[in-house]
Amino acid sequence: MITEFIRATSPQESLEAIQKAGDGTVFLAGGTEIQRLGSAVACTKVVSLTQLQLSTIEEKDEIVSIGALVTFQEALESDLVPEYIKEALRYCGSRTRRNMATIGGNIALARDDSYLFPTLIAAKARLILGDIANDGKYTEENIPIREYHSFREHFAGSLILGIVLNKPNRFVASRRYARTVQSPAAVTISFGADTSSGSPHDIRICAAIKGSGVVRLLAVENGVLNGQYHAPEDAATQAALDIAFVDDITGSAAYKKYLLGTAVSELYRACLETLSVGGAV
Ligand SMILES: Cc1cc2nc3c(=O)[nH]c(=O)nc-3n(C[C@H](O)[C@H](O)[C@H](O)COP(=O)(O)OP(=O)(O)OC[C@H]3O[C@@H](n4cnc5c(N)ncnc54)[C@H](O)[C@@H]3O)c2cc1C
Repeated sequence: MITEFIRATSPQESLEAIQKAGDGTVFLAGGTEIQRLGSAVACTKVVSLTQLQLSTIEEKDEIVSIGALVTFQEALESDLVPEYIKEALRYCGSRTRRNMATIGGNIALARDDSYLFPTLIAAKARLILGDIANDGKYTEENIPIREYHSFREHFAGSLILGIVLNKPNRFVASRRYARTVQSPAAVTISFGADTSSGSPHDIRICAAIKGSGVVRLLAVENGVLNGQYHAPEDAATQAALDIAFVDDITGSAAYKKYLLGTAVSELYRACLETLSVGGAV
């Protein structure tokens, strides 16, 4: 139960408030997860981020910056946000929740049915993070989201200020498999590649798999890069390597493994097709 509500007016103030309030204190953005019945986020105190100026979407020289407090609906209504991000935003089927849920909150959660995380990895998005260093100074850094994903514990106390999409010509495509748009997804997967040289390189493939977490498919990324597959379908067998699938309400372990394999080959094929018709999307 939330017993204390703390307001902050700047990133520095919010980080200091978290430190001061101690254990059981978390940032509050849209609140859709924190206030969800049965939420995995346990907290007694919250530091509200709503007064931070992090709700803008800007574009300069084809680089799009999206503030952490931008809601899913605001991003969907912006002409600046790339279509592949909008596709992932629409995975949240509830308009009410889209009006509240923020981009930053979604990234921080990195749920095993995450709407956005796989797509942001595939897009090679960068995150702007705010932190208080050991000497008490406020710092900001700009890091690749793959680094945030690999070192989650290191960034656990960081404040996400926004995301930067600086690869305007990248191929990015995603799929989400769920019984209905409102149901939790068994698998959400995204495939990204730079296709400017005529063949896919700089590959990123990431999947949120219910019960297994958010995983990068490194073996397939390398396989695609090295041209080791005769056909996209050959990538399917490697997709499930080292992933412990589990049975749950979204489907059996075997079903999730099958979904992952077929989705990888479908997305790889879609990427190759954009090359054969003359360019990336
Ligand atoms: C019925 C229901 C179904 C849902 N289904 C899904 C689903 O399928 N997939 C999915 O991904 N999500 C799902 N969610 C969770 C949620 O709606 C989204 O993940 C949403 O984007 C979270 O954003 P928020 O702003 O509401 O986060 P909040 O609830 O405010 O915060 C969530 C967490 O993120 C932290 N946080 C928030 N903002 C920041 C920031 N800027 N920097 C650092 N940490 C921050 C908070 O401290 C907290 O730990 C569901 C929620 C509900 C109620």
